[in-house]
Amino acid sequence: MTARLLDGKAIGAGLRAALGARVAGLGFRPGLRVVRVGDDLASVVYVRSKDRAAKEAGFDSETILLPDDVPESGLLDVVRRLNADPAVDGILVQLPLPKHIDPQRVLEAVDPAKDVDGFHPVNAGRLAAGLPGLVPCTPKGVMHLLAEAGVALPGARAVVLGRSAIVGRPMAALLLAADATVTMLHSRSRDIAEECRRAEVLVAAVGREGMVNGDWIAPGAVVVDVGINRRADGKLAGDVEFEAARARAGWITPVPGGVGPMTIACLLENTLEAALARRGAIALQ
Ligand code: NDP
Repeated sequence: MTARLLDGKAIGAGLRAALGARVAGLGFRPGLRVVRVGDDLASVVYVRSKDRAAKEAGFDSETILLPDDVPESGLLDVVRRLNADPAVDGILVQLPLPKHIDPQRVLEAVDPAKDVDGFHPVNAGRLAAGLPGLVPCTPKGVMHLLAEAGVALPGARAVVLGRSAIVGRPMAALLLAADATVTMLHSRSRDIAEECRRAEVLVAAVGREGMVNGDWIAPGAVVVDVGINRRADGKLAGDVEFEAARARAGWITPVPGGVGPMTIACLLENTLEAALARRGAIALQ
């Protein structure tokens, strides 16, 4: 058996086009502001992609660049100004931040109604409680991929490898909200291989190249690889041994071209949802 590819590039492009069509019919342009501090190479690339995708879909997008040595108070002032600006619907502060800035303090300064990354504790708490709110983009993108594959989640055994606040935890909460039976694994878990072998849906978000062996994959399982690891030869690789896993899985995401493009599309989706919710046009789901 060779798994079918869950093509995030194509699915993400379809979602962005659909969002663009909705934005074109709104009569206003949802405003997104991405704040980047310093010149971290990956951040430069990510922020550029986000800005380009937002503009292409008709959003009013601007990137705010601050120097590496901006004091924490300066960054907090920028966030407060964006909170107060009625033209701004979504605020994203690109991580990582320089060492002298406490990222948690900055994330908690963002107005939860404009928190399109979904990292504010109010939104994280709402998700954990099963309440509507803004949901982190990467796990939200994974849910789109699973829907696209036609995965029946109610009652399905789903395993999430990794428990970070930005991927693993919200991923598990979304799968639980979709009525899957969810197991979370982390660096202190025992019998990781055995737990993975029981998964009908496996989401790997660890950041260790090839950690998930091909023989950990149950025949026919849906494998979503969130990991992005840069190899010595400069190429990107996921957390899953791709070829070996592909020979057993039913569906699998490539790296790159799987989850990554969905993250950006979901940032736009969150910005549109925030814009509509702020105007009372929708309640968040
Ligand atoms: P973190 O480093 O914050 O979290 C990694 C998680 O993996 C932790 O929960 C950690 O456990 C767990 N872990 C580490 N080693 C092991 C191990 N040997 N066995 C079991 N669990 C382990 O990473 P992120 O969640 O931020 O990111 C994960 C990966 O996803 C990275 O490669 C990142 O680049 C990628 N990523 C991709 C995105 C995309 O758009 N495609 C977006 C965001 C991230 P513990 O909690 O016990 O330490």
